[in-house]
Amino acid sequence: MQSSEEYHKRIFSALEQADKEVYELITKEYERWQNTLQLIAAENQCSMGVLAALGSVMQNKTAEGYPGARLHGGCEVVDEAEKLAVARAKEAFGAKYVNVQPHAGTTANQIVLTALLQSGDKILSLGLHQGGHFSHGSNVSFAGKYFDVENYYVDRQTFLLDYDVIREQATKFQPKLIICGASAYARTIDFKKFREIADEAGAYLLADISHLSGLVIAGAHPSPVDRAHFTTTSTYKPGGPRGGLIIMGKDYDQRISVGTESMALWQLIEKTTFPGMQGTPYFNNIAAKAVFFKETLCTEYRDRQFKIVENARRLAESLVDLGYDVLTGGTDNYMILVNVANFREGLTGIVAQKCLEDCGIVINMSRLPYDKKGPMVTSGMRLGTPIVTKNGMGSEEMESISTLVDVVLRRVEIIGDTEYRIDESFKDETRGRIKELCSKFPMC
Ligand SMILES: *Cc1c(COP(=O)(O)O)cnc(C)c1O
Repeated sequence: MQSSEEYHKRIFSALEQADKEVYELITKEYERWQNTLQLIAAENQCSMGVLAALGSVMQNKTAEGYPGARLHGGCEVVDEAEKLAVARAKEAFGAKYVNVQPHAGTTANQIVLTALLQSGDKILSLGLHQGGHFSHGSNVSFAGKYFDVENYYVDRQTFLLDYDVIREQATKFQPKLIICGASAYARTIDFKKFREIADEAGAYLLADISHLSGLVIAGAHPSPVDRAHFTTTSTYKPGGPRGGLIIMGKDYDQRISVGTESMALWQLIEKTTFPGMQGTPYFNNIAAKAVFFKETLCTEYRDRQFKIVENARRLAESLVDLGYDVLTGGTDNYMILVNVANFREGLTGIVAQKCLEDCGIVINMSRLPYDKKGPMVTSGMRLGTPIVTKNGMGSEEMESISTLVDVVLRRVEIIGDTEYRIDESFKDETRGRIKELCSKFPMC
């Protein structure tokens, strides 16, 4: 009999034999990742253990339902894997209930919304172009189609959430659900205040901590788990496999009436996940989540979350020193939002993204609150430090990164909103410098 180890070692050579094209694309992606600077805040880099679980035989199992209550046979092993993932995630977040089945962060939000709301019910959430996520009720997503959504905004001057204004809005609008959490907001979110506002308005509170969950696990950002009724997150942003989670704290067994039935909130989430919104969970993904949550329980992971924030603060500071307009003046998490239009006249987010990418620095443009430019142009860029920190970079490298970003953004010749020129020799030279910097911090 061949051992599991033998089998899995053959995976990569099997791919090379079966499909040279995809094998080469994977090799190219590895090289792109290794030889350029990864500063996209919405990305992270999982461990080899997580990758191995994703590429394992767990992927083959079909088993709808929950451990001990499946619709298919042969589930004794995947039941153990799911129970392990749940137990570790509960420990990581100090939670009463965790559902590890959602296929993505967006799906986790869809499940909570579908569980709680009837079509036409009211949601109050942060606007998409203010740092919110489209799954929070934007009219480009399913939620905007079925629910009555009103947005709150950040302050025009400070770019901070103003809880008094949100409170007033909630009192007037009387939403059934308030959503907090963001994709582009660099400061601490006060979940306690959000809960007070929700209680006053008679609303449920959903905290989407996709970008904060690693920091929350480590204690580097306050936890919403016992504040919000529901907490959701993607699992790749804190450094695990792709996928989503629904987490519940002290309100997990609060009763809710659904038609003529009464049930606990966690039961409603459970049945809305399956069979409400999904079929078979991805067991390779659930096994990978278990591996990831084991990692999060170690001090190495927890210490790193603080280091990620420290690096982000250093990078923000050094950009400010170079004359950049960093929104809110810095960051409390790993995200740095920069108004590039205020740095050089005519410079847009898309030109910054493209010319930096040409030179080996991978960031993304970001539509800023009250941005005059459209979503495909924008006036902003967003940088994040999880990956460079994972690969061992520290304060000195943050200085080098800001210098490199600055050299490129000063050098680029701006032709229009989306057009620019950058000379080839400068591009090659910068790429070379970045490759050399990255080679000292190999992917781990
Ligand atoms: C990234 C993000 C998501 C989406 O997660 P996916 O797994 O990519 O669907 C949801 N909410 C917020 C706030 C996010 O930043």
